[in-house]
Amino acid sequence: MTDEATRPLTGLPALDGTVLRSEEALAEAADDFGHLVSLRPLAVLRPGSAGDVAAVVRWAAAQGVPVVARGEGHSVYGRSQVDGGIVVDMRPLGAVSPPEQGRIAVGAGATWRSVLAATLPAGSPRRCCRTTSTSPSAALSPSAGLAARRTGTAW
Ligand SMILES: Cc1cc2nc3c(=O)[nH]c(=O)nc-3n(C[C@H](O)[C@H](O)[C@H](O)COP(=O)(O)OP(=O)(O)OC[C@H]3O[C@@H](n4cnc5c(N)ncnc54)[C@H](O)[C@@H]3O)c2cc1C
Repeated sequence: MTDEATRPLTGLPALDGTVLRSEEALAEAADDFGHLVSLRPLAVLRPGSAGDVAAVVRWAAAQGVPVVARGEGHSVYGRSQVDGGIVVDMRPLGAVSPPEQGRIAVGAGATWRSVLAATLPAGSPRRCCRTTSTSPSAALSPSAGLAARRTGTAW
């Protein structure tokens, strides 16, 4: 644990969601699928709205506090962890809109499973992904594989 981990969150604006600082929440955010890296955050944001994410990012930028997004924590080398920063647990923002004219709107915390649940009844897609408990947003970000930093990780 760094000294930063006990730093008060002075000036954090009122939020729709919650900011967690319990031992349990911090320990969960300091772990991932790989169990190789453990970075202890200052706090975990469970956003109640996209506005919460924007507000916390603005606050963190002003304070010099790092922020990381986290979906299902399925990455293997601490990529959804941050030492002394804010982990934004995207899962509460998991809504998927019903398809309209072949398009859907996918929340930042949606999983492939929820995307498929919304789209399969309409007959698409015919091909997707092998692991449905991870998030499509996160699959666009670096995680696993040699080329993942440049190309993302969905396969
Ligand atoms: C054993 C194993 C099997 C896998 N199998 C598959 C597979 O079959 N198909 C496949 O497509 N992928 C597979 N992956 C890769 C997996 O899709 C990625 O690791 C994916 O990023 C996991 O999603 P997550 O929600 O758990 O991400 P996390 O581990 O929570 O985050 C991964 C990265 O994405 C960032 N991130 C998370 N949410 C967001 C967001 N909303 N916006 C921006 N950035 C965000 C994080 O900051 C972090 O950098 C596999 C990985 C492993 C280890």
